[in-house]
Amino acid sequence: MIEAFFGEFLAHPVPLELSMNRCSHNCVFCFANLNQPTRKLDTKALYNQLRKLYDLDTIAARLMRERYPVCISNRVDPFAKSNYETTLPVLEILRGYNIPVMFQTRGGFGVKEALDIVEPSLWYISINQQDEELRKRLEPQSTTLESRYELIRAVTEQGHSVQVAINPMVPEWIPDPEKLIADCVEAGAESFILQSLHFSRDQVANIPERGREALGVETIKLALGGRQNEQFEDWYYRLEKAASDQLCHCGAPFDFPHEPFYANNFYKEVYDKVFPTVYDFLNRCYAAGPGIYSFSDWYNTMMPLLPAGYAGNMRSYIAVQRKRYADLAFSEQEMNPKAYMGYEDLLALWWNSEVLPRSPAHMLPFAIVTETLHTGDTVVVYDENDMPYYVFDPALLESPRIAVDLDEYEVAGIAAFYDQVAEAIEAEQPAEDNEPAS
Ligand code: SF4
Repeated sequence: MIEAFFGEFLAHPVPLELSMNRCSHNCVFCFANLNQPTRKLDTKALYNQLRKLYDLDTIAARLMRERYPVCISNRVDPFAKSNYETTLPVLEILRGYNIPVMFQTRGGFGVKEALDIVEPSLWYISINQQDEELRKRLEPQSTTLESRYELIRAVTEQGHSVQVAINPMVPEWIPDPEKLIADCVEAGAESFILQSLHFSRDQVANIPERGREALGVETIKLALGGRQNEQFEDWYYRLEKAASDQLCHCGAPFDFPHEPFYANNFYKEVYDKVFPTVYDFLNRCYAAGPGIYSFSDWYNTMMPLLPAGYAGNMRSYIAVQRKRYADLAFSEQEMNPKAYMGYEDLLALWWNSEVLPRSPAHMLPFAIVTETLHTGDTVVVYDENDMPYYVFDPALLESPRIAVDLDEYEVAGIAAFYDQVAEAIEAEQPAEDNEPAS
């Protein structure tokens, strides 16, 4: 089935995803194969969904009818042996509906046929090693590294756009980062996206012996704790600098969710419609500079990039962030999880949440605005809609804080902010309060 890309809300610009059978490339680090080793596509359900596209009232059907692109796929390679025979007819159907697609792939079978079907699209092509022997150990049934550079050439020659995913990135797998970037750019890549290796405990428990040997104990340990070895920082900045020197579209969305990140703009150049990511807001704040930001700043940045007028069961966008977060997020804001919501409500939920990943509260240059009352109590400052304010200040990267008290924190625009709050309080007073005493 093609689903709304629930788990990637505010992270991935493409809002729909098609997952299929377990990917036969069998990369030893594949989070999807480790999570669900035996998954299988319900082909009948997929074809039914596509046949009845105009009769369905699901979020996915509505987004498809609005011609948002479909990512194929975050969890499988569409050109792996286990999937390409499904990929090609599905591409034909989507083309018939004029629904665009975006590929995430290491190449394989049926690429030439796919190029005859689809309009110019974005190809996210993964390259994360430089040694063919290592590639064979880590990605035993995948394609050769050389064939991936050929894939970049083949698709760009036909007018498609390529983002190279260095995913997952491990310094030992890429001893010469400058060369890797130069080789990709020479082949035609225009954008890079970088993401670290990370594992949960359950995923580690599912790594087969062959995978453990290929990865090595030390790499698994670091990935499990979300840590990096000592050489990572220098190596990462070499990689990022090499990419940024040649291209403007580069970044590491999940490893450094506090730096400006422009790679997502690349999607807006390829597709008419994409979803916003948290980086649209972060980049806007970096461009405007340190100061106090309100829910209207967030809403006015994000909402124009989301479909308006939707009301439906949006709980999956939150539930997929882990049940614990979902329950907390709803209780934080005293919302009924069963109530129908629109994207406006999701934006409010994210802005106001201390627990949801990718909320401003989770990004280092942001801190909630508080003030100290004459009683000595510290309280969060809310706007007229009970939404908190955040200070955005890159200086907070050096000393991250959850909250800053405006009585002791210097940031641009404080005086104007106090005037605005005072005006709002005055406007809220009943009319008689404003009349002079007789
Ligand atoms: S190509 Fe992607 S989806 Fe397939 S096994 Fe490798 S990491 Fe997983």
